[in-house]
Amino acid sequence: MGRLNGREIKYIREELEKKYPEYCVNCGKTPKQLGVTKLELHEIKYDRPLNSENFILLCKKCNHPKPQNVNLIVGTSSITAEHRKNLEKEPFFRRLLHGEIMKPENNFHLPYYETLAWAAYEVGVSIDTISRRYIPVLTDHPTSPYVTKANNFGQMEIWVRGYEPVDEVLF
Ligand SMILES: [Zn+2]
Repeated sequence: MGRLNGREIKYIREELEKKYPEYCVNCGKTPKQLGVTKLELHEIKYDRPLNSENFILLCKKCNHPKPQNVNLIVGTSSITAEHRKNLEKEPFFRRLLHGEIMKPENNFHLPYYETLAWAAYEVGVSIDTISRRYIPVLTDHPTSPYVTKANNFGQMEIWVRGYEPVDEVLF
């Protein structure tokens, strides 16, 4: 990432905050879950003038992976190539989901079952893996980044938390 000055960092942060709630795109954790006040800006594509589309937010751990940890994973003979590939699939899924759900035309939500099928195909894992392992960690806590909810027609949807429709309370 090229060096940004304080004013540029502030500008990008504000642009990102307008668009979506703060969470690490790699591990899915919110600052609340991590016990920090802010996540780090990571520039995925160098482009000037500055464009917030080229930035993502990462937690400290995901932004600065320790080389020794990488060696630990790669160097351990008990971990097969297949397992190693799987270790990379979940972050890939998160980035994919994030990119899709944040497209303006999707309005902060995606149909649940179509997304499972599409993501399973793109990531190269089973629908079961997506629904039982990848999605729950992103949705099942009050501070997690997404929430699943049935719409008025009973169809399940996945929403960016905070944008989901509020239930009407009938008296
Ligand atoms: Zn992270």
